[in-house]
Amino acid sequence: MTATTKDKKKTAGKVYVETFGCQMNKSDSEHMLGLLDEIGYSQTADLKSADLMILNTCAIREGAEDKVYSYLGAWRKVKDSREGALIAVGGCVAQDAGEAMIKRAPYVDIVFGTHNLHRLPDLVVKARDEGRRVVEVFQELPEDLPELPVIRQSDFSAWVSVIYGCDYNCTYCIVPYVRGREKSRTPEEIMEEVEELAGAGYKEVTFLGQNVTAYGHDLDPATNLGELIRLAGRFEPIKRIRFITGHPRDLQDAIIDAVKEVASACEYFHIPIQAGDDRTLRRMARGHDVDAYRRVVERIRDRIPDAAITSDLIVGFPGETENEFMNTVRLVEEICFDSCNTAAYSPRPHTPSANWPDQLPEEEKYERLRFLNTVVSEVSHRRNKRYLGKTVEVLVEGQSERNPERLTGRTRTNKLVNFEGPESLRGTLVDVEITSANPWALRGALRGALRGALRGALNSDQ
Ligand code: SF4
Repeated sequence: MTATTKDKKKTAGKVYVETFGCQMNKSDSEHMLGLLDEIGYSQTADLKSADLMILNTCAIREGAEDKVYSYLGAWRKVKDSREGALIAVGGCVAQDAGEAMIKRAPYVDIVFGTHNLHRLPDLVVKARDEGRRVVEVFQELPEDLPELPVIRQSDFSAWVSVIYGCDYNCTYCIVPYVRGREKSRTPEEIMEEVEELAGAGYKEVTFLGQNVTAYGHDLDPATNLGELIRLAGRFEPIKRIRFITGHPRDLQDAIIDAVKEVASACEYFHIPIQAGDDRTLRRMARGHDVDAYRRVVERIRDRIPDAAITSDLIVGFPGETENEFMNTVRLVEEICFDSCNTAAYSPRPHTPSANWPDQLPEEEKYERLRFLNTVVSEVSHRRNKRYLGKTVEVLVEGQSERNPERLTGRTRTNKLVNFEGPESLRGTLVDVEITSANPWALRGALRGALRGALRGALNSDQ
């Protein structure tokens, strides 16, 4: 899957990609870089030196469009200062806006959607060589999904998309509109990619999907995410297998059992519930109630007592009463989530709840959000304190942005850990003893033996 034909290409210029939103978008951006590499574009981190600027957009939050146009306004100045530079916009906002984007920002050269990533090189060549605006948005993914080249941004941790789209129709969510229906890649294709990653020295793969837990139901013969985890578990160099994000209804025992039994599968489950109140869940059309969710958590904790469980929560859904909101707060306490992504409800175009009359005032939504965040933070802190004094395996991601003296990495349960150590440990697995915990991260120290070895190595260099 990695692009390999550099020698045959002549340089077309530099491409700068800015990505908003989820891991799916980040993964798509890596494929855009792979596709453009095949026609001679090399990546740059410097916008001002780019011949092609790509904005990969996200539509999940209100205000996303404004953010896009404000970025584009700034990029226009760069384009004006660099002859021949092109601006392209992809992702969910582009999928929705199509032609309208060119009307609002006529200096944009290319608009492409979420279903025609593979067409990006053709669109770029057309805009560049014919000097005209190009808008192409497909309503569905092609029947035969093409294999896309990729230029990954990490050399030890890789995203692997396994299913696209979502068959649910939650009343607040724009994803089914912009990403379409569920479509799984075949296990053969996915394992080919995992094998290549194992051969290239990758240590971690994360299976991606808007509803990754539904993986495989649409294939013939049908399969499931548990089977996929078991297949990937055979690649010894891959030390960690993860998956995001799922739906509680689809988190079958086959998946939980695979996580328990496959040594490299990480004990981490992100299971969005969105609200802890049955009437709200019904109005959200989530397809499950709070009790069903409790049973999913029980099934996980029965099998894997130390698994980390995280969730997504929306507050201030139209018509949500104070008591219904408090049911969500109570559920956070009861389940004792490791952490939660929280958000105030924001009405999105093409979604039913955006037109309901009982919208809550912004002030009320944000007051509820602040309260919920306090509770989530207390609960996360409690969960994190369980790690005090324990030694955990950490995959080192690199220097901490806040403090370059420190390294940062993640446990198998996806906890962020900061500790002191040399940058050379980036991409390796190390044992770290946890010495303190706050709601968002753990602090620790490299285990004695490794620390001693490093000190010895430093001394012998002097
Ligand atoms: S399951 Fe998730 S992606 Fe699908 S419609 Fe509901 S919120 Fe959106």
